[in-house]
Amino acid sequence: MSRKSGTGVPATKRPVIVLAGEDANDRRCLRILLEARCPDMRGRLVEINSPVRLRQATGGTLASRIDKLRRLVQARAARERAEIACAFIHEDLDDADGPGYLETHTRVEKELLRSFPTAHYVLAVEEIEAWLLLFPDALASLVSSWQVPTKYRGKDTGRLTDPKHILMSEVSRTGRRYKESDAPDVLEKAVALDGFPAPLGTNRSWTRLMEDAATCCSSHISKAKKK
Ligand SMILES: [Zn+2]
Repeated sequence: MSRKSGTGVPATKRPVIVLAGEDANDRRCLRILLEARCPDMRGRLVEINSPVRLRQATGGTLASRIDKLRRLVQARAARERAEIACAFIHEDLDDADGPGYLETHTRVEKELLRSFPTAHYVLAVEEIEAWLLLFPDALASLVSSWQVPTKYRGKDTGRLTDPKHILMSEVSRTGRRYKESDAPDVLEKAVALDGFPAPLGTNRSWTRLMEDAATCCSSHISKAKKK
């Protein structure tokens, strides 16, 4: 039986993947997408509740916030008596796609990888709601009156200003209004409808998450299994 390094305690579970995000809705969204993209993650995803605040931090502040995050991730895995296969750290950019997206993503992920052997920084442009606009059928399947206007279909949804407002005022113009807690349900519908969602349109942060999930599935989880 493998042992958690340094503790002498037998690792009783498969290595876990730890999720951190801005709130519970965001973590639920990530969980749905990661499990759909990589079924091997089912039963291995665990969450930490502390909100992530990295993108606006620099220098020593960024390093100390990441160090705090690392300790929380380690404590969460220890509670499971499991080793850590990887961590997905989510945050919204709160800005549309542009030069700032890559700059912020690169800066924070580079710093993350100083503290974590494997980790993924999921920086959503401009927020997770931009991903929902990639799935008009899922939105309509959840609430039949929700319709994505033609002008937003097949577009780069990362370039849209305030996708949450678009969902609230244009997609759910009649009938029940969209609210933030609907986001995971929309993604669950997308997965249920298509097996795995094929987006209508593009979004760099979506593509990045899908690539990170695939890398994690093929490389980070399998490496952790061999320990
Ligand atoms: Zn990974």
